[in-house]
Order: sequence, then C-alpha cells, then structure tokens
Amino acid sequence: MEKRKKIALVAHDTCKKDLIEWLEWNWKEVSQHKLICTGTTGRLVEEALNRKQDEHGEMYPLNITKLKSGPLGGDQQLGAMIAEGKVDIVIFLWDPMNPQPHDVDVKALLRITVLYNVVTATTVSTADFIISSPFFNKEYKLKVKDFSGYMNRKI
Ligand code: PGA
Repeated sequence: MEKRKKIALVAHDTCKKDLIEWLEWNWKEVSQHKLICTGTTGRLVEEALNRKQDEHGEMYPLNITKLKSGPLGGDQQLGAMIAEGKVDIVIFLWDPMNPQPHDVDVKALLRITVLYNVVTATTVSTADFIISSPFFNKEYKLKVKDFSGYMNRKI
C-alpha cells in the first residue's frame, strides 16, 4: 500500500449525512488521497469537498472516481476493483435498519473486503480510528493470503 491511499467511500441513503459530516471534519486528510465512490455518494462527496476547499480558499486537486450507483451495480464494480488490488481502504456506511434492493451486492462487497484483507470501516468511529492511524499517511505492507492452492485444487 502506497503512502497515497486509494479510498472507497460508500454510504447508504440514510447514512450519507453521517459520511458527509465525517468529511466536514476530515476533508484535508481525505482530499490528499485517491477516492473511489459509488455514484450518488460520489456526487455528494465531491460537492462537500469542493465546498470545504472554497470555504477555506485552499485547493487540493480532487481525485474522485465515480462508479455506478450502488443499486445499479456500483457495489459490484467496487468489489471487482478490490479483487484487482485497486482499493486500499473501504469506508462503507451501510444501513442496518432497512433492507436494500441490492442487499446481495452489499454482502458480496463485505465478503470481498475480508477475502483481500482490505482495511474496512463500517462505522464512523472505525473511520476515525483509520484516519488517525500512523499508517494512514505511510506505506504499509498488506498481507494477502496466497490463493494459488485454491486455483490449482483438484476437482
Ligand atoms: P450510491 O450507492 O452511492 O449510488 O447511493 C450506495 C450503495 O447503496 O451502495
């Protein structure tokens, strides 16, 4: 993992306010990394970061990749990026109180983060801990299990 992290930000509708509030506090740190967001989250993140920069008259070049909206395949696109090693950190505020049309994609996304040992926050407090970690702005050697045995298993 390089110093400049590839951070995925995803929030279900009822959690988007929490994510944007978190960015209001942490916009400076977050703006220095590469961001990958599902569609609607990405639009709100971009607006929030631009607003903060304008308020403070400071400019960080925003680097945001916007995928499709979650229910339209965005979670699956993100899962594929994780499998390809293109994501370092996932901050995924999912709604524990309401079923989603794409619940199966949510489960798949959470599974793939564990499979590839991705740094993952599903709560704001965990996101706070991640952003305060000394590794947040440093290189980090990520251990991923060797799956070659699985690929060569006898069928
Ligand atoms: P959205 O998707 O950012 O497009 O709302 C989030 C999700 O439900 O995964």
